[in-house]
Amino acid sequence: MKNRTHLNTINRVVIKIGSSSITHTKTGHISLQKLDHFVRQVSDLKNAGKEVIVVTSGAQAVGISSLNLDVKPSKLEEKQAVAAVGQASLMMIYQKLFREYNHHVGQVLITKEIIDDKSRYQNAKNTLRALLRMNVIPIVNENDTVSTEEIEFGDNDRLSATVAIIAEAELLILLSDIDGLYNEDPKDNKDARIIDSVNEINEDIYNMAGVSKSKTGTGGMLTKLMAAEMANNEGIDMIIANASTPYVIQKIYDGEIIGTIFKS
Ligand code: GLU
Repeated sequence: MKNRTHLNTINRVVIKIGSSSITHTKTGHISLQKLDHFVRQVSDLKNAGKEVIVVTSGAQAVGISSLNLDVKPSKLEEKQAVAAVGQASLMMIYQKLFREYNHHVGQVLITKEIIDDKSRYQNAKNTLRALLRMNVIPIVNENDTVSTEEIEFGDNDRLSATVAIIAEAELLILLSDIDGLYNEDPKDNKDARIIDSVNEINEDIYNMAGVSKSKTGTGGMLTKLMAAEMANNEGIDMIIANASTPYVIQKIYDGEIIGTIFKS
């Protein structure tokens, strides 16, 4: 059924934005135009009385461009160092832009440990709730500076699904540079079309995305499908849409058929 009007009544939402959707493709520097478009939409959602949690990527991308590095660092400690620089720049700009729209933000950095550690899980839950009660927009990222392989999510898709579950959100929106899930690879097939609704994430869906579930990925469609499974299993719907579509968040709330919805 092509009907998404129920989305209008959703109150608590987690919105994840990917690195390429807030930076310039050529330079990797923050794109003020892209970021402002995003912040404006989130601010308007807040003005409409909704509870919004943002999950942002980009710490490493922004760190690399700020330090004018020619190549991506490969050593773990160097990746963590650039993330430390980039995360600070990113938060400064989020804070400045959200203040222009009269909203407050709070930085929340997490690692995968919170899933298994009961008290950390509860603490994260309590803090997110307190921030929402105070009318603050939590801005979440992975704590890249301390996370090692054992405790890292590695990608913000699954991190954002975890946040949606912890925060008991009703909807998770993943904004990136892809329009949604295609039935075939759009690079190989001009007639490939976007699937507007997925009711069950099975092997066919993974095949459609051209990915194998057994491979561990860092971003891309694989981790998005994994995030959808995590969210759907907890009764949370998820939407993949293109961040560059004008007012994409408002369109989703208006029930427009945009991107792909994964129904819980
Ligand atoms: N936490 C990483 C960063 O901010 C992003 C991971 C991802 O893009 O999925 O650079």
